[in-house]
Amino acid sequence: MRRLKLLFIILLAVIVSCTNKEENKSETKSSDSATAFEFGVWTTANAKKSNEDYAKEFEKYKNAGIDEVLINTNTDPVLLNRIVPIAKEKGLKVHAWIMTMNRPGDSIALQHPEWYAVSKEGNSCYDTRPYVDYYQWLCPTREASRNHILGLIEGLAKVDGIESVHLDYIRYSDIFLPIGLLPKYNLKQETEMPEFDFCYCDVCIAEFEKLHHKNPLESENTSIDMEWKQFRLNRVRDIVNDAYEIVHKHDKKLTAAVFPYPEMADHMVRQRWDKWTIDEVYPMIYHGFYNEEIDWIGFATKQGVEDVKGTGIGINTGIFIPPFKSRQELEDAIMLAKNNGAKGITFFDGSALNPEHITVIRRAKDSFK
Ligand SMILES: [Zn+2]
Repeated sequence: MRRLKLLFIILLAVIVSCTNKEENKSETKSSDSATAFEFGVWTTANAKKSNEDYAKEFEKYKNAGIDEVLINTNTDPVLLNRIVPIAKEKGLKVHAWIMTMNRPGDSIALQHPEWYAVSKEGNSCYDTRPYVDYYQWLCPTREASRNHILGLIEGLAKVDGIESVHLDYIRYSDIFLPIGLLPKYNLKQETEMPEFDFCYCDVCIAEFEKLHHKNPLESENTSIDMEWKQFRLNRVRDIVNDAYEIVHKHDKKLTAAVFPYPEMADHMVRQRWDKWTIDEVYPMIYHGFYNEEIDWIGFATKQGVEDVKGTGIGINTGIFIPPFKSRQELEDAIMLAKNNGAKGITFFDGSALNPEHITVIRRAKDSFK
């Protein structure tokens, strides 16, 4: 009897160890596919372009080794619906890119002047635009402007075949512009300037007062008022988290184009993306905007990867093609993104990719196989 029992235990041990092996095998397999490094491009669509021309554009990306396209249709689900099958036919994944808080020329929003963000000076983006005319930011706190934005997100999420709704301009207007862009606007920004500081509309002030019993307009120095800063970070976060629920209801993912790494995003545009409920982010690590060198792409990628550790948020390094000076620089950027923990790299934008860039990307893609 004892011998039988021993045999039974041995048999059980053998079975358990076999099952473990099976589990290990499937773990290895899934981690292999999770580490496949993906290449993407941002691109802007327009309704006048023919299906044949889209097919040619997507063919160019596919031949370059690109896996996914992030398409700005100017929030047009009909146009998106027309393009998705063409891209998928070429084997590309599609993300629906939306300009979220900055909504230039939004015909519905323009009927509601009160939806627009108001500067510390008291001017509304409805008619007084910071920096450029296309900066037409909506207030993230008002119920009506939030619902409008979330409705647009849902409209895109309903389109069959897309991977994600991809939020861009999911932040406040820049309180500090990237240093490399300042000369273009003939600006010096050493402190938070009231004409670039948002949103001080009646609803934002009232909601903040309810929570903190003080009015930011009476603050001696709003740039060191942490509650006011946190309030604004949370308003953007709330829109992202609500969008997450909506797009997942339609079995899609939520992704976003964000500033280079969380603390930099917080400092420049009041965007704290490591605290969001989101599937993946595409930090725009545009070295040329910040007068940085190529190795900074590795630094910023790593910073973001470390900051989202344990959250499940995937990082795709975004790079801006025009400032690259050589093939070597582009090759280095791809390796820096990969070696610092990004799950992919995305180029801005598709039309900037010339045959030389395509050769570099194709070669990198093949070398990762
Ligand atoms: Zn407001």
